Amino acid sequence: MRSLSLTIAAATTILLATLSTVHAQDGTPTGITNTAPSTYSCDPKVCLPPACMCASLKPPGGLDPKTVPQFVTITCDDSIQADLFVTAQKLLAAAKNPNGCPARGTFFVSIQYTNFALVDQWYAAGNEVADHTWTHVGTPPAAEISACKEALNAYGGIPRGKIQGFRAPFLNYTLGTLQEIAQQGFIYDSSATAVIDDANWPYTLDNGLANDCWSPGLCTAGALKLPGVWEIPMHSVVDDTQIPQLMDVYLAGTSANVTSWYNTNWQRHYNGNRAPFGIYVHPTHMTNYVGLPDASGYLNTMTSIIATLASNPDVWFVTNQQLLAWMKNPVPASQLASQSYMQCNQPVIAKEICNGLDDTKQGVIDKNLTNQCTFNTSDFQTCFNCPATEPTAANPVPASNVAVGSPNYRYPLPDTCDSIWWDPIGDNCLCNSSTCAYKDVSQPITKNGTTNGTTNGTTNGNGNSTSNSNGKASGASQIVNTVGMTIAAVLGALAIVSL
Ligand SMILES: [Zn+2]
Repeated sequence: MRSLSLTIAAATTILLATLSTVHAQDGTPTGITNTAPSTYSCDPKVCLPPACMCASLKPPGGLDPKTVPQFVTITCDDSIQADLFVTAQKLLAAAKNPNGCPARGTFFVSIQYTNFALVDQWYAAGNEVADHTWTHVGTPPAAEISACKEALNAYGGIPRGKIQGFRAPFLNYTLGTLQEIAQQGFIYDSSATAVIDDANWPYTLDNGLANDCWSPGLCTAGALKLPGVWEIPMHSVVDDTQIPQLMDVYLAGTSANVTSWYNTNWQRHYNGNRAPFGIYVHPTHMTNYVGLPDASGYLNTMTSIIATLASNPDVWFVTNQQLLAWMKNPVPASQLASQSYMQCNQPVIAKEICNGLDDTKQGVIDKNLTNQCTFNTSDFQTCFNCPATEPTAANPVPASNVAVGSPNYRYPLPDTCDSIWWDPIGDNCLCNSSTCAYKDVSQPITKNGTTNGTTNGTTNGNGNSTSNSNGKASGASQIVNTVGMTIAAVLGALAIVSL
């Protein structure tokens, strides 16, 4: 995924369009609504917020759409590398929130090729880090999911309780995968497509899936019951031929086309039910590489669109976690600026602690603070110890190459400190007040499909279940797998399979 050519981009465009078409409407290029009928039902008298939320086209809390904030979620997928990090930052820099805080975004991180020091920085700047598996495998075994979270915690320094979200590679979510992430303690999934008639606000899966019923059985009542686990639908941009475009929309048309499509769909959201609006990208497509065609046009198109959205009143660029915080306690747009989760006060610390904050040059980690870890097939920087052997999905956090207590030892993030305050060199939490205190109470990270220690009672010896373990999901996974393999067949040698 480190390289990209015009040929690849063109092929990806076609394949992405194909996939989004299949995904949203089971191969039918028109009729942009559900195909398989949904038998979803949810009684709002029984499913009570904030623990339970029925799927709905209406905003929560009975609020009038005209009074609710228009949320925009910018999400980036796959590995975080230096150039990709800069691209993601440029997207966010195109907007500001109404309370003066920076726009926030969510990065669904796959571990292969990721530089963990940048994960640390992305989070410290107020953004969200979420799980996108280790090797970006289509139907991820449990360990691919848990190992990703474990590495983001160990080498990126992200509190495990703050790694709450999951997105399936290739958006190949199945009932089995959703059951697995629930077992592993994730708070939400964001893989299911929404178009128009199923353009729901986020909802909990207490009563199963309600949107993107692209395969029979996926939305059947009783097929899936995951109390308290949220689905944050990904909202499509319907193009002028009525095909829903989901990710990397900028690859599917000219800059003028794409701008027009976004504007049309934006009006439907902003002047309609105000369901969250999504900008879903792979930064690699918008990043320039030596010897490859100039990708600046894609980035310029998207930053221009983002700036235009931001010019409207009551538009907020938020992480998925901020969106869910609002869903659990919905307030009118006029009250959003004062909510605790919308603040942007950064720690004031006298010294640089390896997260890019509180230095003379904000956002850049001093070189002497990070460790360079080099292995046969990967290398990365981290504020923590390098492992003695190369991390893998099977063994994500091998023993450190530095002995505890030796001068170069880095202390892992404890459960009693958020990483924006944690000094891994001084073994010290620099938070000195109750306002910044943090206690991680999330369940231990599962390993290889089995939980390691005290977890809830839902782990039933079926921890190795993969997405195909549930017969109800097999049809769905076959369809997307076919598309995924098509992409792999066309692009496999170029290693650009990305969704
Ligand atoms: Zn991906």
